Amino acid sequence: ENFDDSDMDALAKHNIRLAGYSTPTPVQKHAVGIVTAGRDLMACAQTGSGKTAAFLIPILSQNFKDGRGEESIPDRRGTIKPVTLILAPTRELALQIYEEAKKFSYRSWVRPCTVYGGTPIGDQLRDLERGCGLLVATPGRLVDLLERGRVSLSNVRYLVLDEADRMLDMGFEPQIRRIVEKEDMPITRQTLMFSATFPRNMQMLARDFLLDYVFISV
Ligand code: AMP
Repeated sequence: ENFDDSDMDALAKHNIRLAGYSTPTPVQKHAVGIVTAGRDLMACAQTGSGKTAAFLIPILSQNFKDGRGEESIPDRRGTIKPVTLILAPTRELALQIYEEAKKFSYRSWVRPCTVYGGTPIGDQLRDLERGCGLLVATPGRLVDLLERGRVSLSNVRYLVLDEADRMLDMGFEPQIRRIVEKEDMPITRQTLMFSATFPRNMQMLARDFLLDYVFISV
């Protein structure tokens, strides 16, 4: 079985081929079908399993099918309203996801951006203002942008928490809850959580953030 056989969007398939991926990894095989079916997902998967593409590919494929692009443009007040929001624990992981998102969104209306702490916010804001359909963020920096009113969650259709256990270990739970439980975060969104482990605090997070979810472990 390979990516070409699936009923994914043609541009998604094309970009997967350009990236040099031919055979899906196990987590990709499972996640693509689950996400495409519109289900929430809790996936236990390690780094190196191909988990990044496992959420990016089906989300972008759906974006290409559904969207026309205006969601990617800041509104009249300059507020940035991403359709896809991906939370990651560190700048390094955020940048890795961002680089992969650029490959898979090549020549599409989805413009990926990334924001993380420990670096001046000005350049990141200027990049966001050019349009942002998919935002990869570390929790603290995103809370800052939400408080400044520069980013709104009201357009979010896909929410991903990557390496969720690491975010909890790093003490990001308050920031994550502020983001996911914010009043304008749509309850109709699709939520995907990835984690290497599934301890009790992760189970609580899954219970609070996911709706009728599918659990996979690879
Ligand atoms: P990840 O687990 O998402 O950090 O991915 C680990 C590495 O595997 C990354 O360098 C990816 O570019 C690569 N990779 C992921 N999926 C595939 C695939 N289906 N075929 C070839 N390489 C892949």
